Amino acid sequence: MINAVRSALVIGGGFSGMSAAIELCKRGVKPDLVEIDADWRSYGAGITLNGATFRTFRALGILDAFMERGSATDGLVVCTSDGTLVAKLPTPRVAGPDVPGSGGIMRPALAAILAAATRAAGARVLLGTTFETITQDDDGVTVVLTNGETRRYDLAIGADGLFSKVREAMFPNAPKPAYTGQCVWRAVVDRPDEIETTVMWLAPKIKLGINPVSKTQAYLFATVNQPTKQRLHESEYLEVFRKLLKPFAAPLVVRLREGLNENSSIVYRPLEAVILPKPWHKGRVVLIGDAVHATTPHLAAGACIGMEDAVVLADELERAGDVEGGLTAFENRRWERCRMVVENSLRLGEIEIHDGDKQEHAATMRTSMMALAAPM
Ligand SMILES: Cc1cc2nc3c(=O)[nH]c(=O)nc-3n(C[C@H](O)[C@H](O)[C@H](O)COP(=O)(O)OP(=O)(O)OC[C@H]3O[C@@H](n4cnc5c(N)ncnc54)[C@H](O)[C@@H]3O)c2cc1C
Repeated sequence: MINAVRSALVIGGGFSGMSAAIELCKRGVKPDLVEIDADWRSYGAGITLNGATFRTFRALGILDAFMERGSATDGLVVCTSDGTLVAKLPTPRVAGPDVPGSGGIMRPALAAILAAATRAAGARVLLGTTFETITQDDDGVTVVLTNGETRRYDLAIGADGLFSKVREAMFPNAPKPAYTGQCVWRAVVDRPDEIETTVMWLAPKIKLGINPVSKTQAYLFATVNQPTKQRLHESEYLEVFRKLLKPFAAPLVVRLREGLNENSSIVYRPLEAVILPKPWHKGRVVLIGDAVHATTPHLAAGACIGMEDAVVLADELERAGDVEGGLTAFENRRWERCRMVVENSLRLGEIEIHDGDKQEHAATMRTSMMALAAPM
């Protein structure tokens, strides 16, 4: 039970916000969750997950649902662009001996699992709703919502993502998201028979991977060097993505490229990142997830650390006798781990952009994965 918080508002119904709502409910606080999108959509193709994410799924109570709809496998295979094997890397079974160390799922499937768990836990979900104003005093937070309600809460959690409006309202001088010099392409394909776990192919200026996301589907992801942030129209995606895959002579990649079509759900996204220095809270308003530490996908751990935030936040609020103590303990416990993920991901991107030291790249990957496997 969390004694210092009887009522809470979660702003943003992404992976982090839904996880926060579930964790609060487990400890006796049934929050309101406002999500700006009336249809509560989740964009993008698949998402890659690691053993630490599965540990968090177990804490949230959604591991079984994930196992049914997603894909959990062991190891990561790295090849050159023509398909020659470079390395088979182990992925530690962080969540327990019964749960593989790596995996993937379609983003809408994970969002649906979390949404069902959020509602089942007892949160009041308000879709198509956001905040107009947040004001606070020593005893609580008053929030005017866009649905006309004015509510008073003991705690407000900003989980509204990379372009967080809660961050803007609470920390107007905080660093802004910055373009990193790379973009990412993703597409959904039928799962090839020979793909049992994540496989990556490396070529100059582009890194391509495939990851199973269910028994029948996989997603392709490509990280591409791109000095300036470019806008592309969706009608160009198929042609541009096919062209980008031309340097890969690996027979499977050639087959996958030829199979891409208008129904491949191709997504293009320039990469941006931001991390706020502590404090991550102001009075009774705290930021979690991408709102406070948005990373590039080089370690495939952004969703992981956002969902971990939710577990640790609820844990520290339960432990502390007051809100200030709980929020301070939360950010102290999270800072180093989240900094490590954001900064190491950025470093990996820099090495790729400048065709830098491959050994440093491999060592950074290895030490980061080991750090993520440590307790959250
Ligand atoms: C290209 C790319 C690939 C990635 N791949 C991976 C990967 O493979 N593995 C991994 O672990 N991570 C990956 N990540 C990172 C991961 O997607 C994010 O870290 C994660 O989705 C963050 O979740 P979040 O809930 O904090 O924020 P978001 O997912 O951004 O969710 C924010 C939610 O808040 C809502 N919202 C926004 N503004 C408001 C408002 N004002 N009021 C109310 N609601 C609002 C939004 O509609 C949304 O539902 C990737 C990121 C990128 C960019």
